[in-house]
Amino acid sequence: MHPETLAIHSSYYHDQNAGAVAPPIYLSTTFERNADGTFPHELIYARMNNPNREAIEKSIAALEGGQVGMAFSSGQAAAMSILQTLRPGDHVVVAQDTYHGTPALLEEVFHPWGLTYTRTDLTNLEALRLSIHENTRLVWVETPSNPLLRITDIRAVAAIAHEAGAYCICDNTWATPILQKPIELGCDVVMHSTTKYFGGHSDVISGALVFKEDNELAQRARRIQSLGGAVPSPFDCWLILRGIKTLATRVRAQSSSAQKIAEALANHPAIEAVHYPGLPSHPGHEIAKSQMTDFGAMLSIQVRGGAEAALQLTGRLKLFTRATSLGGVESLIEHRASVEGPNTATPLNLLRLSIGLEHPDDLIDDLQQAL
Ligand SMILES: *Cc1c(COP(=O)(O)O)cnc(C)c1O
Repeated sequence: MHPETLAIHSSYYHDQNAGAVAPPIYLSTTFERNADGTFPHELIYARMNNPNREAIEKSIAALEGGQVGMAFSSGQAAAMSILQTLRPGDHVVVAQDTYHGTPALLEEVFHPWGLTYTRTDLTNLEALRLSIHENTRLVWVETPSNPLLRITDIRAVAAIAHEAGAYCICDNTWATPILQKPIELGCDVVMHSTTKYFGGHSDVISGALVFKEDNELAQRARRIQSLGGAVPSPFDCWLILRGIKTLATRVRAQSSSAQKIAEALANHPAIEAVHYPGLPSHPGHEIAKSQMTDFGAMLSIQVRGGAEAALQLTGRLKLFTRATSLGGVESLIEHRASVEGPNTATPLNLLRLSIGLEHPDDLIDDLQQAL
């Protein structure tokens, strides 16, 4: 089935009660038991499961091509939960260029708790091999990367992780399963901040994990989800389910606009570099073509004249909102180094753009007048 169809049909909730086409929201924290102690719908208590949550877990797993899906209260809660499946003494290899919260979690929360980790440029497979130790349990990929849009060869990294007996996880937030399916490329787990494209309207914080198989790792994560309780509310689940229905169409339209914008800016004299994997000059273009069906709706630009010129540019834009985050219907622009703080490795003249659903020509005109 094509992803457009799967998005609608995997998210369709068959309401047994009233036949409602749009799903009801189940706010109940608890569910009635039969006199013999069994549960008629296998629902017990809403930290463990809830019909709205089950619906998105099923749908996200179907879209990613995995056996098991789990929804969390944020992308970071999903990341925490997979790291909590590990034990003190275990080692994680994480990509050099990732969402800044991932290494921050490893450093500030899990390092004191006994995990060790190595940050490695995963576009360099030799560097990856050298970073893997006997106790490496997890290799963490994010591609396209944040904020430099570097492309990692998922098939190659997953194969190296497996040779070493480690699991491979991919943060697929930016690509979404519409453009890239890490499980088909060899990963064991996919992570999402569903706050971004799945929600799609900048109005819900949530996250998800999808497991290729219902294996020991998935079962441990399921226990962490229900014991730890970092779960989304029924209304959050309802909003995500609504977002899923238009996910494929939004992501394709937004990616097509990003391609046009990247091409329009590529040779602009006020711009030092455009980072977008859809440009043939991008170092990861060929690998991106081999593992993605399109190149995504995120791009970064480096502006001539340093941080100040970059910040001033954002002040002249009329259609781009200056805000963090991504994946909504409105275009956003952000000076990443300001968000990431003084220890950032991000170039100071870099601006990250999340392309929304406005007409691409209007966005190009706006960027051109501001440049
Ligand atoms: C936003 C984001 C996260 C964190 O997700 P939250 O929902 O904000 O907790 C993780 N990875 C990537 C790539 C992101 O863009």
